Amino acid sequence: MQSYSLFAPAKINLHLEIIGHRPDGYHELVMIMQSVNLGDVIHLRANGKDEIRLFCQNPEVPLNNTNLAYKAAHLMQQQFPKLAQNFGGFDIVIEKNIPVAAGLAGGSTNAAAVLVGINLMWSLGLTQPELRDLGALLGSDVPFCISGGTAIATGRGEQIEPLPDLSDIWVILAKYSNLSVSTPWAYNSYREQFNHLYISDSQGINQRTRQVHSGDLVKAISQRNSEQIGALLYNDLEKVVLPEFPTVKALIDAFKAENVLGSMMSGSGPTVFALCDNQNQAEAIANKVQKTINDSNLHCWVAQMCTHGIIKQ
Ligand code: ATP
Repeated sequence: MQSYSLFAPAKINLHLEIIGHRPDGYHELVMIMQSVNLGDVIHLRANGKDEIRLFCQNPEVPLNNTNLAYKAAHLMQQQFPKLAQNFGGFDIVIEKNIPVAAGLAGGSTNAAAVLVGINLMWSLGLTQPELRDLGALLGSDVPFCISGGTAIATGRGEQIEPLPDLSDIWVILAKYSNLSVSTPWAYNSYREQFNHLYISDSQGINQRTRQVHSGDLVKAISQRNSEQIGALLYNDLEKVVLPEFPTVKALIDAFKAENVLGSMMSGSGPTVFALCDNQNQAEAIANKVQKTINDSNLHCWVAQMCTHGIIKQ
């Protein structure tokens, strides 16, 4: 049985809007998601044993059944019990390059890679929509991570519609290693402070979703207008995270002062991203901001928007 190595890109949100409550307890969201070529590499091989074993050098990554990569392998074993019985378990090696608990969907993209990898390994022939349906059972960001590129995500984030590809834009990602924001905390705080703005009827929710579909950011993406894309970045969660974490706000302001196309927090943070038209500019601005802020906990990466999700290496 073959082994597979898969590249699993991180994502940023160009638009994250919380529309309302859902009966299942999640939030109703409309997001524009974008893959970037900063990614983890997942090595997957059949181990012939009755267990799923995880290996990762990064101590922040759990090596037990709470790891999303483990959950993905376990889900495939449950869905296809005969194949699991015939071929046994997996060794999963995670080469972690995406910062952990950073709002970049690191765990979700690892789970997506395991689903795609087992589909190949067991020759299941599952289509992308079928893989995305399985991914939705693991987490809201997993379906997007499977197909990646540029897409609108609605519902709790699991309903994906592709948008025209973007790949010419460069992205600086910046994160303080001593700072992490809990995703549940960010969403719960938002609910506490802003639930009076929630739309509760399904007609209103559909209407708002359609407005984003036909809105200026989607137009700018279709026209590959990087200046407009930078100017139209939007994230509701900044309203609760930035007042609580002033260093994140200061980081966004430091990038904006360098005339980037735009700068914003990704997802529930605390990673900040800034958009640039070319690699040289992105690298120069990343260096300058790091020098200005002069904090050894601040780490920057320069990546490029990419047009794919999980790919075989
Ligand atoms: P999201 O944006 O989807 O909320 P995130 O990018 O903010 O996720 P992750 O990197 O997925 O955050 O990590 C969140 C927590 O998930 C970590 O603190 C870790 O304990 C746990 N986790 C489970 N599986 C993984 C994995 N494969 N890689 C990283 N963290 C994982």
